[in-house]
Amino acid sequence: MEQETDNMRSNKICKNRREEAALFAWPWGNLHSFKYLLYGPLVARVLYAVYIDGEVKNDDWCLHILMLSGLRAFVHQLWSTFSCMLFVNRTRRINQQGVEFDQIDAEWHWDNFLILQTFAASFLYLSFPSLANLPIWDMRGVICCLMLHMGISEPLYYWLHRLLHSSSLFQQYHWLHHSSKVLHPYTAEHATFLEHILLCVVVGIPTLGTVFIGYGSIILMYGYFLVFDFLQCLGHCNVEVFPHRLFEAIPLLKYLIRPPTYHSLHHSDMGTNFCLFMPLYDKLWKTMNTNSWDLQREISSRTNSRAPDFVFLAHIVDVMSAMHSPFIYRSFSSIPFSAKPFLFPGWPITYMVMLVMWAKSKTFLFSFYYLRGRLFQTWAVPRFGFQYFLPFATEGINKQIEDAILTADKIGVKVISLAALNKNEGLNGGGTLFTNKHPNLKVRVVHGNTLTAAVILNDLPQDVEEVFLTGATSKLGRAIALYLARRKVKVLMLTLSTERFAKIQKEAPVDCQKYLVQVTKYQAAQHCKTWIIGKWMTPREQYCAPSGTHFHQFVVPPVIPFRRDCTYGKLAAMRLPDDVEGLGTCEYTMERGVVHACHAGGLVHFLEGWKHHEVGAINVDQIDVVWEAALRHGLKPL
Ligand SMILES: [Zn+2]
Ligand SMILES: [Zn+2]
Repeated sequence: MEQETDNMRSNKICKNRREEAALFAWPWGNLHSFKYLLYGPLVARVLYAVYIDGEVKNDDWCLHILMLSGLRAFVHQLWSTFSCMLFVNRTRRINQQGVEFDQIDAEWHWDNFLILQTFAASFLYLSFPSLANLPIWDMRGVICCLMLHMGISEPLYYWLHRLLHSSSLFQQYHWLHHSSKVLHPYTAEHATFLEHILLCVVVGIPTLGTVFIGYGSIILMYGYFLVFDFLQCLGHCNVEVFPHRLFEAIPLLKYLIRPPTYHSLHHSDMGTNFCLFMPLYDKLWKTMNTNSWDLQREISSRTNSRAPDFVFLAHIVDVMSAMHSPFIYRSFSSIPFSAKPFLFPGWPITYMVMLVMWAKSKTFLFSFYYLRGRLFQTWAVPRFGFQYFLPFATEGINKQIEDAILTADKIGVKVISLAALNKNEGLNGGGTLFTNKHPNLKVRVVHGNTLTAAVILNDLPQDVEEVFLTGATSKLGRAIALYLARRKVKVLMLTLSTERFAKIQKEAPVDCQKYLVQVTKYQAAQHCKTWIIGKWMTPREQYCAPSGTHFHQFVVPPVIPFRRDCTYGKLAAMRLPDDVEGLGTCEYTMERGVVHACHAGGLVHFLEGWKHHEVGAINVDQIDVVWEAALRHGLKPL
């Protein structure tokens, strides 16, 4: 604890120093996303060339700089995708923690270095016009460039890096790179302006050197920078990708290439492993971490990852929101989902992926977080919302859910919570299908809707006397109606089925039955200002509500708000406890740190250690019990 306070204090000191240190911040930092306008002059020149000559010539250096920048960003994106694909890499992750929102925000502008290097390259081309006349390819250049890289850039980087770890330079600059707790490919570029200027020198020596010696070529330029970025991302990807046998078969490799574990040790033990890509220099100057190759062997030979304690079994909503995955755009998945224009080009590809998933894919690990030392995972059934409404698809979906439950049971998961449509009444009776079929399950199957009901009910005004309820005979509608009737609140239940209404009414205590009233038209609620909506509503139906009505909702997706003179509630949700760790993705449209109430319901079931399944109809007696338990465990209403 004391050490933590020290860390916090030194962070503060570092942050104060940040303001003092020259060349710490990026000159275009205040432009935020408008910084991309800085590419404008180059783009304009390329467009102008097309306009004047009708084509872009091969010697147009502006075009090459732009294309290389794009490709370099793409290399980072591919590595980010790989690093976030937990279903591919979970056994070989080096740091088992998750990347948190703070780190994602800090690394948001990881691509600043591309703008800097674009400026540097443009400046060089303008200063040395001969640079624009490089041949496509010259074999001799590769050898020359490699020699300059290995002989000058590597040792230069090594000593610059050691210098940056001297106490004053570290506190002024290099702490920023080391402030990222869990390495990610973007962390590779998360450094100060000054450090990236130094890096320009490191990459400039082999490339410009080769050109000035006379062996430069266009392919060499592309190749060097792309390989450089590839190796930087590799070092920071937080997944050990090399089999240890490779280093045992070719021991020389241990001096030529740093595997991801090697650089991760530099981040955990800062006095060691300073090299750029070649551990040779750590060996030479005796800074190689003695644990480097044991850790590499240990992690690369892992066959199992830690089993989670709790699983939230989600599904994909639609093609657009499928692109809200961390392995597509990490930054985008760290903010609540909403359809953005930049997603549209990805729609056809995602649609194709959806078809492939339908044919082949199994339930996969999507995201995770830790709470009080326990591991909580979200698994995704590879099915989209619309598929749940195709009669011929339901059997396949239930098979997916059943397989997930049986897997969870086998690996020792305590609670599996079914999300959204995975517990659809018509699909599997709110989960009863599985608990009936497998009576000896050790894992508890939970729909979590008891807490959903509790959240909706606790959102109602304390002194409410009358509510209007649609979707009134659904699982949630029934529980809400019965709970309110017991509290002597009059419930206008919209349903055409007198039989279903009567069945629910009979469940209420005799003296409370009179509070449940069947209505068949929206007009019946034209004087009631508290509407609880469990069914999609047209604008015309919304206009039946009196001015000033508040629409509470449990309909998925939520209704489109048409009334300016009314207010609309959001879907039932709760904020996770403050001590949650490793959280860096938003659950669909939820804010950061907020989860759907049914997710929270499963969590409470786990934290309480309850031994019953929570499937089928909601137990009205449990609503207050679950609500109080949720608050006790630190979950918060919004
Ligand atoms: Zn360092
Ligand atoms: Zn690093």
